[in-house]
Amino acid sequence: KKIDQEYELDRTLGKGKFGSVVLCRSKATGEEFACKTLRKGEEIVHREVEIMQHLSGHPGVVTLKAVYEDAEFFYLVMELCSGGRLLDQMAREGLYSEQKAAHIIKELMLAVRYCHEMGVVHRDIKPENILLGTSGQMKLADFGLAVRILDGQSLTGVVGSPAYVAPEVLVGNYSEKVDIWSAGVLLHALLVGVLPFQGDSLDTMFEAIKKEKLDFVGGAWEFVSQPARDLLSKMLTRNISTRLTADQILRHPWISFYTEPLL
Ligand code: ADP
Ligand code: MG
Ligand code: MG
Repeated sequence: KKIDQEYELDRTLGKGKFGSVVLCRSKATGEEFACKTLRKGEEIVHREVEIMQHLSGHPGVVTLKAVYEDAEFFYLVMELCSGGRLLDQMAREGLYSEQKAAHIIKELMLAVRYCHEMGVVHRDIKPENILLGTSGQMKLADFGLAVRILDGQSLTGVVGSPAYVAPEVLVGNYSEKVDIWSAGVLLHALLVGVLPFQGDSLDTMFEAIKKEKLDFVGGAWEFVSQPARDLLSKMLTRNISTRLTADQILRHPWISFYTEPLL
């Protein structure tokens, strides 16, 4: 069947590298969804479809409802995240209270723990790819750079968004722990309003990511609690064996203090 027999396509919700995302409405039920169009051909596009099919089934991950295709495109009909991007909420909100930040990190870590348990590394965690549901629930989206790891094999290839990329990605082999680093960059931005590693050029930014020490000095740092600093330093550590897992982050005192206990 063709997508336009079943869905009415409406306005554009977002644009990306490989295609666009539009609002669509089921002709049968009137229910609204988001439809991502991906041009066929690139291997990476097939992988995105395959990984989303593999993952559907966690409240913190955007659910795939159906896939249509024609000669040129895949059409991914996904759950609609009507709250928009975390990025836009951050632009409106400015600094986050520790309580709000802890809720976001907790929801993100529940989704990331699920992905890692399913053998999927997202590799592009950043506020453009974190969407919000109708009542503000966090939904991890955009599995366009995600990969599946089998039997703890290591990953290679420099991918991701420069400011969020983990240092080990820039040097060689890496694991699912890269997602924790990126979430640490996000936590830093939520708490103090700026990215932890910056530079005038990509090269200087990458140098900072590889070498610069987090000093917790200046700006909004004086208002950030010790437990928050402790968690952040255990997410943004270059020592991969001590960098926390998603499950360990969910059990960190700063998360338990501000959020409901885990069931
Ligand atoms: P790309 O791989 O091109 O970055 P994304 O999957 O990140 O594509 O989608 C691009 C943008 O489209 C997102 O940043 C968001 O604004 C919008 N978008 C994507 N999926 C949805 C969705 N399920 N609901 C609402 N908006 C979405
Ligand atoms: Mg994206
Ligand atoms: Mg993508």
